Amino acid sequence: MFSKKCHALLEEKLGANKVLLTTSCTAALEMSAILCNIEPGDEVILPSFTFVSTANAFILRWAKPVFIDINEDTLNINASLIETKITEKTKAIVPVHYAGVSCDMDTILDIGQRYNIPVIEDAAQGVNAKYKDRYLGTLGQIGTYSFHETKNFNCGEGGALVLNDEQYIERAEIIREKGTNRSKFWRGEVDKYTWVDIGSSFLPSDILSAYLFAQLEYMDEITNIRKVIWDFYYSNLRLLEVKELLRLPLIPPWCQSNYHMFYLILPTEDARDDLMNFLKQEGILAVFHYLPLHTSPVGMKFGYSIGDLPVTENISRRILRLPRYNDLQHHEQEKVIELIIKGFIS
Ligand SMILES: *Cc1c(COP(=O)(O)O)cnc(C)c1O
Repeated sequence: MFSKKCHALLEEKLGANKVLLTTSCTAALEMSAILCNIEPGDEVILPSFTFVSTANAFILRWAKPVFIDINEDTLNINASLIETKITEKTKAIVPVHYAGVSCDMDTILDIGQRYNIPVIEDAAQGVNAKYKDRYLGTLGQIGTYSFHETKNFNCGEGGALVLNDEQYIERAEIIREKGTNRSKFWRGEVDKYTWVDIGSSFLPSDILSAYLFAQLEYMDEITNIRKVIWDFYYSNLRLLEVKELLRLPLIPPWCQSNYHMFYLILPTEDARDDLMNFLKQEGILAVFHYLPLHTSPVGMKFGYSIGDLPVTENISRRILRLPRYNDLQHHEQEKVIELIIKGFIS
Protein backbone atom coordinates (compact mmCIF):
# COMPACT_ATOMS: atom_id res chain seq x y z
CA MET A 1 0.00 0.00 0.00
CA PHE A 2 1.73 3.16 -1.21
CA SER A 3 -0.66 5.40 0.72
CA LYS A 4 0.60 3.84 3.93
CA LYS A 5 4.19 4.29 2.81
CA CYS A 6 3.49 7.97 2.13
CA HIS A 7 1.89 8.35 5.57
CA ALA A 8 4.85 6.73 7.30
CA LEU A 9 7.41 8.72 5.34
CA LEU A 10 5.71 12.05 6.03
CA GLU A 11 5.13 11.28 9.70
CA GLU A 12 8.75 10.32 10.16
CA LYS A 13 10.33 13.09 8.10
CA LEU A 14 8.13 15.94 9.27
CA GLY A 15 7.68 14.76 12.83
CA ALA A 16 3.91 14.80 12.35
CA ASN A 17 1.70 12.88 14.72
CA LYS A 18 -0.59 11.46 12.02
CA VAL A 19 -0.79 12.07 8.29
CA LEU A 20 -3.64 10.92 6.04
CA LEU A 21 -3.47 11.37 2.29
CA THR A 22 -6.55 12.99 0.73
CA THR A 23 -7.78 13.65 -2.78
CA SER A 24 -6.67 17.30 -2.52
CA CYS A 25 -5.80 20.05 -0.07
CA THR A 26 -9.35 21.27 -0.66
CA ALA A 27 -10.59 17.91 0.66
CA ALA A 28 -8.24 18.13 3.65
CA LEU A 29 -9.60 21.60 4.46
CA GLU A 30 -13.18 20.33 4.15
CA MET A 31 -12.33 17.49 6.53
CA SER A 32 -10.83 20.03 8.95
CA ALA A 33 -14.07 22.01 8.97
CA ILE A 34 -16.01 18.84 9.82
CA LEU A 35 -13.49 17.87 12.50
CA CYS A 36 -13.82 21.29 14.15
CA ASN A 37 -17.62 20.92 14.19
CA ILE A 38 -18.18 24.13 12.27
CA GLU A 39 -21.87 25.03 12.43
CA PRO A 40 -24.00 27.59 10.61
CA GLY A 41 -23.16 31.10 11.78
CA ASP A 42 -19.75 30.19 13.21
CA GLU A 43 -16.87 32.45 12.26
CA VAL A 44 -13.54 31.42 10.78
CA ILE A 45 -10.53 33.76 10.62
CA LEU A 46 -8.42 33.63 7.45
CA PRO A 47 -6.59 35.87 5.00
CA SER A 48 -8.38 37.21 1.94
CA PHE A 49 -5.19 36.83 -0.10
CA THR A 50 -5.51 33.08 -0.66
CA PHE A 51 -6.96 30.38 -2.86
CA VAL A 52 -10.77 29.95 -2.72
CA SER A 53 -10.57 26.55 -1.02
CA THR A 54 -9.29 28.07 2.22
CA ALA A 55 -12.64 29.83 2.54
CA ASN A 56 -14.96 27.42 0.72
CA ALA A 57 -14.21 24.51 3.04
CA PHE A 58 -15.82 26.43 5.89
CA ILE A 59 -18.56 28.16 3.89
CA LEU A 60 -19.74 24.70 2.86
CA ARG A 61 -20.60 24.25 6.56
CA TRP A 62 -22.28 27.69 6.52
CA ALA A 63 -19.59 29.49 8.48
CA LYS A 64 -18.91 33.18 7.96
CA PRO A 65 -15.42 34.05 6.70
CA VAL A 66 -13.70 36.77 8.74
CA PHE A 67 -11.01 38.08 6.43
CA ILE A 68 -7.83 39.61 7.81
CA ASP A 69 -5.33 41.75 5.93
CA ILE A 70 -1.80 40.55 5.09
CA ASN A 71 1.66 41.84 5.92
CA GLU A 72 3.24 43.85 3.16
CA ASP A 73 6.56 41.96 3.46
CA THR A 74 5.66 38.24 3.45
CA LEU A 75 2.09 38.51 2.07
CA ASN A 76 1.01 36.31 4.99
CA ILE A 77 -1.84 37.03 7.39
CA ASN A 78 -1.08 39.97 9.69
CA ALA A 79 -1.07 38.14 13.02
CA SER A 80 -1.33 41.36 15.00
CA LEU A 81 -4.82 41.96 13.56
CA ILE A 82 -6.27 38.57 14.48
CA GLU A 83 -7.13 39.11 18.13
CA THR A 84 -9.37 42.12 17.47
CA LYS A 85 -11.58 39.91 15.25
CA ILE A 86 -12.17 37.10 17.74
CA THR A 87 -15.73 36.73 19.00
CA GLU A 88 -17.76 34.10 20.83
CA LYS A 89 -18.46 32.55 17.44
CA THR A 90 -14.86 32.15 16.27
CA LYS A 91 -14.31 28.42 15.74
CA ALA A 92 -11.04 28.29 13.80
CA ILE A 93 -8.03 30.35 12.76
CA VAL A 94 -6.66 29.41 9.34
CA PRO A 95 -3.25 30.87 8.53
CA VAL A 96 -2.00 30.32 4.97
CA HIS A 97 1.76 29.94 4.44
CA TYR A 98 2.08 31.87 1.20
CA ALA A 99 4.79 30.82 -1.27
CA GLY A 100 6.22 28.32 1.23
CA VAL A 101 7.14 31.09 3.69
CA SER A 102 5.69 30.66 7.15
CA CYS A 103 3.27 32.91 8.98
CA ASP A 104 4.15 34.33 12.39
CA MET A 105 3.22 31.10 14.11
CA ASP A 106 4.27 31.95 17.68
CA THR A 107 1.75 34.79 17.76
CA ILE A 108 -0.98 32.79 16.03
CA LEU A 109 -0.57 29.67 18.19
CA ASP A 110 -0.53 31.81 21.31
CA ILE A 111 -3.87 33.41 20.35
CA GLY A 112 -5.34 29.99 19.53
CA GLN A 113 -4.24 28.64 22.88
CA ARG A 114 -5.46 31.61 24.93
CA TYR A 115 -8.93 31.54 23.34
CA ASN A 116 -9.01 27.76 22.93
CA ILE A 117 -9.59 28.02 19.19
CA PRO A 118 -8.01 25.41 16.89
CA VAL A 119 -5.39 26.62 14.40
CA ILE A 120 -5.66 24.94 11.00
CA GLU A 121 -2.62 25.61 8.84
CA ASP A 122 -3.27 25.84 5.12
CA ALA A 123 0.19 24.60 4.22
CA ALA A 124 -0.80 23.76 0.63
CA GLN A 125 2.27 25.65 -0.55
CA GLY A 126 4.39 24.86 2.48
CA VAL A 127 5.34 21.18 2.26
CA ASN A 128 8.93 20.68 3.50
CA ALA A 129 9.28 24.31 4.66
CA LYS A 130 9.92 25.23 8.29
CA TYR A 131 9.01 27.78 10.92
CA LYS A 132 11.98 27.94 13.28
CA ASP A 133 12.85 24.25 13.58
CA ARG A 134 9.43 22.74 12.88
CA TYR A 135 7.82 21.80 9.61
CA LEU A 136 4.84 23.80 8.37
CA GLY A 137 1.62 21.87 8.80
CA THR A 138 2.81 20.32 12.07
CA LEU A 139 2.45 23.41 14.25
CA GLY A 140 -1.31 23.95 14.48
CA GLN A 141 -3.85 21.43 15.76
CA ILE A 142 -4.43 20.48 12.11
CA GLY A 143 -2.41 21.06 8.93
CA THR A 144 -3.28 20.61 5.26
CA TYR A 145 -0.99 19.94 2.27
CA SER A 146 -1.51 20.01 -1.47
CA PHE A 147 0.05 17.63 -3.98
CA HIS A 148 -1.66 19.32 -6.91
CA GLU A 149 0.39 19.43 -10.11
CA THR A 150 1.26 23.10 -9.47
CA LYS A 151 2.87 22.36 -6.12
CA ASN A 152 6.43 21.27 -5.20
CA PHE A 153 5.58 17.56 -4.84
CA ASN A 154 2.66 16.37 -6.85
CA CYS A 155 0.53 13.49 -8.05
CA GLY A 156 -1.71 15.54 -10.35
CA GLU A 157 -4.42 15.98 -7.75
CA GLY A 158 -3.77 15.12 -4.14
CA GLY A 159 -3.29 16.39 -0.63
CA ALA A 160 -2.88 15.41 2.99
CA LEU A 161 -4.39 16.08 6.36
CA VAL A 162 -1.93 16.40 9.22
CA LEU A 163 -3.37 15.70 12.64
CA ASN A 164 -1.17 17.05 15.37
CA ASP A 165 -3.82 16.84 18.06
CA GLU A 166 -4.70 13.25 19.07
CA GLN A 167 -8.36 14.07 19.58
CA TYR A 168 -9.02 14.35 15.83
CA ILE A 169 -7.38 11.15 14.61
CA GLU A 170 -10.10 8.55 15.08
CA ARG A 171 -12.83 10.74 13.64
CA ALA A 172 -10.66 11.84 10.70
CA GLU A 173 -10.25 8.21 9.63
CA ILE A 174 -14.02 7.79 9.70
CA ILE A 175 -14.80 11.00 7.78
CA ARG A 176 -12.22 10.04 5.13
CA GLU A 177 -13.87 6.62 4.72
CA LYS A 178 -17.32 7.97 3.81
CA GLY A 179 -18.41 8.10 7.45
CA THR A 180 -17.71 4.42 8.13
CA ASN A 181 -15.37 2.70 10.57
CA ARG A 182 -13.74 0.78 7.74
CA SER A 183 -10.21 1.67 8.92
CA LYS A 184 -10.91 -0.06 12.22
CA PHE A 185 -12.27 -3.06 10.32
CA TRP A 186 -9.04 -3.34 8.26
CA ARG A 187 -7.05 -3.27 11.46
CA GLY A 188 -9.25 -6.03 12.90
CA GLU A 189 -10.57 -3.79 15.69
CA VAL A 190 -14.22 -4.40 14.74
CA ASP A 191 -15.67 -7.47 13.01
CA LYS A 192 -17.84 -5.55 10.52
CA TYR A 193 -17.86 -1.99 9.34
CA THR A 194 -20.79 0.34 9.42
CA TRP A 195 -21.98 3.94 9.07
CA VAL A 196 -21.01 5.91 12.17
CA ASP A 197 -20.64 9.60 11.18
CA ILE A 198 -20.88 12.00 8.25
CA GLY A 199 -18.13 11.67 5.69
CA SER A 200 -17.21 11.52 2.06
CA SER A 201 -14.73 9.95 -0.32
CA PHE A 202 -11.58 11.78 0.62
CA LEU A 203 -9.12 8.95 -0.15
CA PRO A 204 -6.77 9.13 -3.12
CA SER A 205 -6.17 6.02 -5.19
CA ASP A 206 -3.09 4.01 -4.38
CA ILE A 207 -1.85 4.57 -7.94
CA LEU A 208 -1.55 8.29 -7.24
CA SER A 209 0.10 7.55 -3.91
CA ALA A 210 2.75 5.48 -5.71
CA TYR A 211 3.44 8.37 -8.06
CA LEU A 212 3.72 10.71 -5.07
CA PHE A 213 5.89 8.37 -3.01
CA ALA A 214 8.60 8.41 -5.66
CA GLN A 215 8.91 12.19 -5.13
CA LEU A 216 8.55 12.16 -1.36
CA GLU A 217 11.64 9.96 -1.17
CA TYR A 218 13.53 12.87 -2.74
CA MET A 219 11.88 15.78 -0.97
CA ASP A 220 15.10 17.47 0.05
CA GLU A 221 16.73 16.98 -3.34
CA ILE A 222 13.68 18.49 -5.08
CA THR A 223 13.67 21.38 -2.61
CA ASN A 224 17.35 22.00 -3.36
CA ILE A 225 16.69 22.17 -7.10
CA ARG A 226 13.98 24.74 -6.40
CA LYS A 227 16.36 26.69 -4.19
CA VAL A 228 18.91 26.94 -6.99
CA ILE A 229 16.26 28.34 -9.34
CA TRP A 230 14.99 30.73 -6.66
CA ASP A 231 18.49 31.95 -5.79
CA PHE A 232 19.33 32.53 -9.44
CA TYR A 233 16.28 34.76 -9.88
CA TYR A 234 17.05 36.53 -6.63
CA SER A 235 20.71 37.27 -7.23
CA ASN A 236 20.16 38.43 -10.80
CA LEU A 237 17.11 40.60 -10.15
CA ARG A 238 18.48 42.07 -6.94
CA LEU A 239 19.93 45.04 -8.84
CA LEU A 240 16.40 46.09 -9.83
CA GLU A 241 15.41 46.00 -6.17
CA VAL A 242 18.43 48.07 -5.20
CA LYS A 243 17.33 50.63 -7.80
CA GLU A 244 13.86 50.50 -6.21
CA LEU A 245 12.25 49.45 -9.47
CA LEU A 246 10.57 46.46 -7.86
CA ARG A 247 10.56 44.32 -4.73
CA LEU A 248 11.67 40.71 -4.39
CA PRO A 249 10.20 38.09 -2.05
CA LEU A 250 11.29 38.21 1.58
CA ILE A 251 12.15 35.12 3.60
CA PRO A 252 12.33 36.10 7.29
CA PRO A 253 15.23 34.63 9.28
CA TRP A 254 12.97 32.33 11.31
CA CYS A 255 11.69 30.64 8.17
CA GLN A 256 13.20 27.95 6.00
CA SER A 257 11.42 28.21 2.66
CA ASN A 258 10.61 25.38 0.27
CA TYR A 259 11.02 27.90 -2.58
CA HIS A 260 7.55 27.26 -3.89
CA MET A 261 7.25 30.50 -5.79
CA PHE A 262 9.18 33.48 -7.07
CA TYR A 263 7.27 36.69 -7.43
CA LEU A 264 7.94 40.36 -8.04
CA ILE A 265 6.07 43.27 -6.49
CA LEU A 266 5.98 46.13 -8.96
CA PRO A 267 5.51 49.75 -7.89
CA THR A 268 2.11 50.12 -9.57
CA GLU A 269 -0.57 48.08 -11.30
CA ASP A 270 0.37 49.67 -14.63
CA ALA A 271 4.03 48.73 -14.20
CA ARG A 272 2.94 45.16 -13.41
CA ASP A 273 0.68 44.93 -16.44
CA ASP A 274 3.33 46.47 -18.71
CA LEU A 275 5.95 43.94 -17.63
CA MET A 276 3.47 41.07 -17.90
CA ASN A 277 2.48 42.09 -21.44
CA PHE A 278 6.08 42.64 -22.47
CA LEU A 279 7.00 39.13 -21.30
CA LYS A 280 3.95 37.68 -23.00
CA GLN A 281 5.00 39.20 -26.34
CA GLU A 282 8.31 37.46 -25.88
CA GLY A 283 6.55 34.15 -25.31
CA ILE A 284 6.94 34.05 -21.53
CA LEU A 285 3.96 33.42 -19.35
CA ALA A 286 4.16 35.35 -16.09
CA VAL A 287 0.90 35.49 -14.20
CA PHE A 288 -0.60 37.02 -11.13
CA HIS A 289 -3.13 35.62 -8.72
CA TYR A 290 -5.48 35.96 -5.87
CA LEU A 291 -8.07 38.46 -6.68
CA PRO A 292 -8.84 39.15 -3.03
CA LEU A 293 -11.59 36.88 -1.76
CA HIS A 294 -13.32 39.69 0.14
CA THR A 295 -13.91 41.71 -3.06
CA SER A 296 -15.09 38.68 -5.06
CA PRO A 297 -18.83 38.23 -5.73
CA VAL A 298 -19.06 35.75 -2.85
CA GLY A 299 -17.01 37.96 -0.53
CA MET A 300 -19.34 40.88 -1.25
CA LYS A 301 -22.33 38.70 -0.34
CA PHE A 302 -20.77 38.38 3.09
CA GLY A 303 -20.84 42.16 3.37
CA TYR A 304 -17.29 43.03 2.37
CA SER A 305 -16.42 45.85 0.02
CA ILE A 306 -13.47 47.34 -1.79
CA GLY A 307 -11.24 49.23 0.62
CA ASP A 308 -11.77 46.89 3.58
CA LEU A 309 -8.33 45.26 3.36
CA PRO A 310 -5.98 47.82 1.81
CA VAL A 311 -2.72 45.83 1.83
CA THR A 312 -4.35 42.77 0.25
CA GLU A 313 -5.96 44.87 -2.46
CA ASN A 314 -2.80 46.82 -3.14
CA ILE A 315 -0.51 43.76 -3.35
CA SER A 316 -2.88 41.82 -5.58
CA ARG A 317 -2.67 44.64 -8.13
CA ARG A 318 1.13 44.72 -8.11
CA ILE A 319 2.27 41.10 -7.89
CA LEU A 320 3.71 39.11 -10.78
CA ARG A 321 4.78 35.47 -10.54
CA LEU A 322 7.70 34.27 -12.62
CA PRO A 323 7.86 30.91 -14.39
CA ARG A 324 9.28 28.28 -12.08
CA TYR A 325 8.98 24.56 -12.16
CA ASN A 326 11.39 21.82 -11.16
CA ASP A 327 12.76 21.31 -14.66
CA LEU A 328 12.97 24.96 -15.69
CA GLN A 329 16.18 25.00 -17.74
CA HIS A 330 18.99 27.33 -16.84
CA HIS A 331 19.08 28.99 -20.26
CA GLU A 332 15.31 29.53 -20.11
CA GLN A 333 15.66 31.22 -16.76
CA GLU A 334 18.52 33.37 -18.04
CA LYS A 335 16.25 34.48 -20.86
CA VAL A 336 13.45 35.46 -18.45
CA ILE A 337 15.89 37.45 -16.31
CA GLU A 338 17.44 39.14 -19.32
CA LEU A 339 14.02 40.20 -20.60
CA ILE A 340 12.88 41.55 -17.24
CA ILE A 341 16.03 43.66 -16.94
CA LYS A 342 15.58 44.80 -20.53
CA GLY A 343 11.97 45.68 -19.79
CA PHE A 344 13.17 48.10 -17.10
CA ILE A 345 16.35 49.48 -18.51
CA SER A 346 15.19 50.15 -22.07
C1 LIG B 1 -3.19 24.98 -4.06
C2 LIG B 1 -3.83 25.55 -2.86
C3 LIG B 1 -4.98 25.00 -2.28
C4 LIG B 1 -5.76 23.89 -2.93
O1 LIG B 1 -5.05 22.74 -3.12
P1 LIG B 1 -5.73 21.53 -3.95
O2 LIG B 1 -4.84 20.37 -3.64
O3 LIG B 1 -5.67 21.93 -5.39
O4 LIG B 1 -7.10 21.36 -3.47
C5 LIG B 1 -5.47 25.53 -1.11
N1 LIG B 1 -4.87 26.57 -0.51
C6 LIG B 1 -3.77 27.15 -1.04
C7 LIG B 1 -3.14 28.30 -0.33
C8 LIG B 1 -3.22 26.68 -2.23
O5 LIG B 1 -2.15 27.26 -2.76
